[in-house]
Amino acid sequence: MEQIFIRDLQVYGYHGVYRQEKEQGQNFLVQARADLSFARAAAADELGETVDYGSLCLLIRDFFQAKRFDLLETVAKDLSAEIFRKFPAIDGLFLEIGKPQAPIPMEFANVGVRLERRWRPAAIALGSNMGEKGEHLDFAVRSLENADAVRRLTVSEYYVTKPYGYEEQEDFFNAAAVFETYLTPEELLDFLHEIEAERGRERIIRWGPRTLDLDILFYDNLTRNSETLTIPHTDMHNRLFVLEPLAEIAPWWVHPWKGKSVAELYKELKG
Ligand code: ATP
Ligand code: CA
Ligand code: CA
Repeated sequence: MEQIFIRDLQVYGYHGVYRQEKEQGQNFLVQARADLSFARAAAADELGETVDYGSLCLLIRDFFQAKRFDLLETVAKDLSAEIFRKFPAIDGLFLEIGKPQAPIPMEFANVGVRLERRWRPAAIALGSNMGEKGEHLDFAVRSLENADAVRRLTVSEYYVTKPYGYEEQEDFFNAAAVFETYLTPEELLDFLHEIEAERGRERIIRWGPRTLDLDILFYDNLTRNSETLTIPHTDMHNRLFVLEPLAEIAPWWVHPWKGKSVAELYKELKG
């Protein structure tokens, strides 16, 4: 992996919580590091194939001039999204945004935030069993396709399956999708919830009828168990309606704590 870097780029901006910061502005000091592969650019000695650090500096300056935020956290997050959008060759990004003149009544060199983002593979399950089920799934697929934070999307066929858990309901349409995203797992879950909400999803009965259900199956090889998010999805290895579509598009993906590929899990469960 190769990198380009920008050190101590000075830009002027109006981000901050205090009135003085918003009105008079101040200097910000930006450090950036982008991971990418030089292979193609170096082979052709062609600027268009890599990331031109001059235009990256200009993008950062323009971003600071065009936008105003209270928090450096928001600045870093939005700026990273903008950089990924403008420079598709970047695989990973480190940003540090410092405020050397922050209103703190002490001697200090710099304060600020750091953020690291990378395109990571993720897999999700899609399900619907209310109304125009195919259209609900189509809508979810389009939303993913159109999202800046999603690339390299592959979607399985739609499978018609019998309901699971609570059985007094219509058949399901199920599918799986794999893609790359620079969103964190929590941000990805929020994004999926937004898509569900746009299709009028309401949570009434667990496993009950729903217009659209989007679950995270895998996020890279991460395992996580928090109150709001379990990755891999807790029950995926027990569900044919998840494993079958996933085996169609990502049979090689190894379940991080089962230690078996999706193809193997599917074969075992199907019997
Ligand atoms: P199941 O998760 O068994 O398929 P469900 O999809 O019907 O059930 P929901 O009502 O859609 O359950 O989700 C309940 C909560 O589960 C969500 O609000 C979310 O916080 C949490 N959750 C935990 N892990 C995941 C995950 N991997 N993907 C999506 N939601 C998750
Ligand atoms: Ca589900
Ligand atoms: Ca769900």
